[in-house]
Amino acid sequence: MQSNTFAGQNGEDPDSTRFQALKEFHSAGRGFWTDVSEASWTDWRWQLKNRITSLEQLQRLLPTLTPEEYAGTLLANKKLALSIPPYFFNLIDPADENCPIRRQVVPRGQETHAAPWEMSDPCGEDSHSPVPGLVHRYPDRVLFLVTDRCAAYCRYCTRSRMVSNASGYDFHPEFDRQIEYVRRHAEIRDVLLSGGDPLLLSDEKLVFLLERLRAIPHVEFLRIGTRIPVFLPQRITPGLCAMLKNHHPLFISIHSNHPRELTTEMREALGRLADAGIPLGNQSVLLRHVNDDAVTMRAHVQKLLMCRVKPYYIYQCDLITGSAHLRASVRKGLEIMESLRGHTSGYAVPQYVIDAPGGGGKVPVNPEYVLSRNNDRVVIRNFEGRIFEYPEAADGTPLVRPPVRIEEPEFV
Ligand code: SF4
Repeated sequence: MQSNTFAGQNGEDPDSTRFQALKEFHSAGRGFWTDVSEASWTDWRWQLKNRITSLEQLQRLLPTLTPEEYAGTLLANKKLALSIPPYFFNLIDPADENCPIRRQVVPRGQETHAAPWEMSDPCGEDSHSPVPGLVHRYPDRVLFLVTDRCAAYCRYCTRSRMVSNASGYDFHPEFDRQIEYVRRHAEIRDVLLSGGDPLLLSDEKLVFLLERLRAIPHVEFLRIGTRIPVFLPQRITPGLCAMLKNHHPLFISIHSNHPRELTTEMREALGRLADAGIPLGNQSVLLRHVNDDAVTMRAHVQKLLMCRVKPYYIYQCDLITGSAHLRASVRKGLEIMESLRGHTSGYAVPQYVIDAPGGGGKVPVNPEYVLSRNNDRVVIRNFEGRIFEYPEAADGTPLVRPPVRIEEPEFV
C-alpha cells in the first residue's frame, strides 16, 4: 500500500516539501533570450523559428550535455529530430542530467537500443488506415492526422516513425479523401484531429478542416490532441480561441507529463481555451524518472485542476523502438493509481491505460478493489485498506434475506 505520509504535513518531511514546491507556478523566464523583444518572445512564430535543432546549438546552450545525450543528438536527425522552442528550453535544469523536462526532449544514445518486442508502430495504426492520414480502429470514432510536425519532439513518441520525417516516412495527409471517408461512414460520430500537432496549422487551415468536418451531420463532436499549450503556449492566441469557439462541441486533449511544465504562461493559455468554452483533458505518459512517483503525479494532477484541466488518462508508455530507458513499470503505474484514488479529489484521478501492443486498443488497468464475489456478497476494500461487504445475490439482484446455501467466495 502506498504511503500517504506527505499529505497535509508541515515542515521536515522531504516529500511534503517537494510536493509543495512542485505545486508552485513559475514563469519559464527568458533564460538566454533576455535581449529579445517582448513582442518577439510572445510570438509563437518567433519561438518556432528560433527552436534549438542542432547539436551545435544544444552544446552551446547546455554545456552540461552528457556523452549519452551527445551520442543521441548526433543521431537524432536520422531517427526523430531534435527540436526545442526557447520557451520550453528554459524549463530544463542544466545542472541536472536527469531533469524530467530534459529527459523528454533531449535525445540519448539509448534510443538506438532496440528490444525484440519493441515496434515502430506499437498501436498498429498503419494497419487500421483505410486512407492516408486516417486511422479507424474503434467503431464510432477516427483519428484524423493532419501533420507530421510538432513544436518539440518527445523522445518516446508513439508516432516517432512519422513525426519530424527524420526517418523518411514521408507523411502526406490527403484531406479530401480523409473527409470523404468520414462523410461516407455514418457510424463515425467523433473525430480526433492529431498528428504531429494540429495547432501548428494556421488558423485558416484549421477553419477549413473544422468547418468541413462540422458540416457532416453524423459527426457529433470534434477533438484536438495537442502538446502546443505545453511547448508553445504563445500559440494559444485570443484569435485562435475565438475561432475554435465557433466549432463546438469541441474538446481539447493536452499532453503534459510533469508539474514543472505547468507554468504561469501555460496556465494563462489554458485559461483562454477554457474561457472559450472548450472542455480540457490531459493525457500523461508514465515515464521513468520523469513522473513515475506518487509525489510528482499527485502534484501534477492537482495542478492540472488548478489550470481547469481534467486529468483524463495516464498511458503506460508504448513499446516504441528505443524507448526502454523511458518506460516505467506497470507495477509503478498501479502504485501511483493507488496513491491517488481516495487520497485526492475524484476529478483529479485519471484512468490508467495500456494501449494493447499491436493494435488492441486502450485497456484500463486498475488496482484491485473488489476482493471477492460470492453467493451473498461482494467483498471490497477502500483506499485505506479497510474491508467492507456489500450484500448482493450472485445473479446481481438485491438481497432481501440470507441465501440458503453459502458458496466459497470467488477471489478476484
Ligand atoms: S507532441 Fe505528440 S506527436 Fe509530437 S512528438 Fe510529442 S508525443 Fe509525438
